[in-house]
Amino acid sequence: MWWAELIDALFPRLCRLCRAPAADGFACEEHRWVREENPARCGRCAALLGRGLPDGMTCASCLRRPPPFSRVVACLDYETLRPWVIALKHRGRRDLASPLGARLGRALQGESGPACLVPIPLHPLRHLERGYDQAALLAEAAGRELGWPVVRALERTRSTPPQGSPGAVSRRANVHGAFALDSSGRRGLAGRTAWIVDDVVTSGATAAEAARVLRRAGAGGVAVACLARAGMALSSVR
Ligand SMILES: [Zn+2]
Ligand SMILES: [Zn+2]
Repeated sequence: MWWAELIDALFPRLCRLCRAPAADGFACEEHRWVREENPARCGRCAALLGRGLPDGMTCASCLRRPPPFSRVVACLDYETLRPWVIALKHRGRRDLASPLGARLGRALQGESGPACLVPIPLHPLRHLERGYDQAALLAEAAGRELGWPVVRALERTRSTPPQGSPGAVSRRANVHGAFALDSSGRRGLAGRTAWIVDDVVTSGATAAEAARVLRRAGAGGVAVACLARAGMALSSVR
């Protein structure tokens, strides 16, 4: 079709991340969003399960201590999305929030409502440093895709140290009391499932702490949506 060629010439199909030609109009060969071969993940927290375990099984960690959210929806695993997440968070690529947030929104399509999106807030100091709050931008783009409201119900009460690789227990201690309910947030939560939005979920401790606050605030249910899920289920780490 001549007009399709014309559109391609006028708006070349480039990778959103590196601007190399992109056959699918979103990502080049190197940055393609490919699913891992054996994506067996916990049905509750979406942590990668060990080899041979069935997809959707509840991991030992969730069985022992059920998280305060019903489940985690992730676009992809962290290994695949690492360059995108690093660019968004640490290389000033604010422009990526919109296409990535739209993808996150599409991952939530089909979820039953009523629902709202609640971004994990960035500490004001880090916001100042970075100039933008990537989780809030992702939530806004996902909200546009879904027609769901974004409710900024949470605020940081203190800055938590960056989460390197401490064990799950110290992570819990690390984020305990890190969030409070924003004075304007409560109204938007009543009767809705609150989808916590973050760029990456690693141990799930941050999301769990946020979920506890949202449940106390009267959210109808709490679930988690993230671009990338990192980390193995504890039961499958040897
Ligand atoms: Zn690329
Ligand atoms: Zn789990």
